[in-house]
Amino acid sequence: MSYEGRMLRELKMPLRQDVENALLRALFRHNGSIKEFSSGEEIVVEIGNEFELTDIQRSAYLETVYRKENRVKKSFLWHRLLFRAADSLAKNKMVTRPTRTIKLTNKREWMLTENGLDIALKLLEVHGEKKDIIPIKSYEVQKIIKKLNESSRPKSYNPINKKKKVINVSKQTTLRSRAFRHAVIIAYDYKCSICGMKISSPDSLFWEVEAAHIVPHSFKGKDDIWNGIALCHLHHWAFDVGWFTLLDNYNIQVSSKVNSLPSSFGKMGNYEFLKDLKYNSSKLLLPSNVEIYPHQNAIHWHRQNIFCQ
Ligand SMILES: [Zn+2]
Repeated sequence: MSYEGRMLRELKMPLRQDVENALLRALFRHNGSIKEFSSGEEIVVEIGNEFELTDIQRSAYLETVYRKENRVKKSFLWHRLLFRAADSLAKNKMVTRPTRTIKLTNKREWMLTENGLDIALKLLEVHGEKKDIIPIKSYEVQKIIKKLNESSRPKSYNPINKKKKVINVSKQTTLRSRAFRHAVIIAYDYKCSICGMKISSPDSLFWEVEAAHIVPHSFKGKDDIWNGIALCHLHHWAFDVGWFTLLDNYNIQVSSKVNSLPSSFGKMGNYEFLKDLKYNSSKLLLPSNVEIYPHQNAIHWHRQNIFCQ
């Protein structure tokens, strides 16, 4: 048995498989990515706490003697164990290495892959269907988000993809629609672009805000950032049924039908969620980057096809 193996056993360090699972859970808690760990990094302490490691276990180190250079290198046993677990997850394609993620996010971090995310969901007993709405971004999804955010804004844009399949979605299109959702709600800072509502579940796992298609999915609307806006459930519904639309300058236009609504309709206490929009002649709350503003062609389609004058 190696010097390291002997130490691991003598100090009753956690088994590598258990450390791998703990890492997957930690990645899940941290929205899919954690900073490359050098010793003293929070994550090294955080996972150590999960195993209730003693001070001795945390501070035990190995010595490697480099005779030629006449020097001794010390490396912490716990840190090495964590690194080996991450390395093994990377070999099994459950995480991507910091050397790869840096090209994507400019940060050196370990990141869950789709495969790793599926296993983390199982470990945490989170139902697979939730995958579509949790805020965790896998490497594959991050790649698509980057493309969505960085493509240059087209002058003539067709928000409809004639070939889009509305039913029987393949794995690739699910990835794309998840990336669309993440990209849109991040761009709008998790707020409804109409009322500004920003709220998540108490465990911070689910955001209330939704990524709405301007040309709806059922009309083969593209999963592009130019065809999306972030809306709360209430405003998403009202937008989809044509209670309001957007003008080319991103002002909100409310249907004239609002004038003939019974007085008890559309009220939340004193707040009238449709009439107030009309009287305040509000403007959409837009992302900071102009390039990803909703495209006029998508808005135009909504005015023509969904909006009730
Ligand atoms: Zn809203």
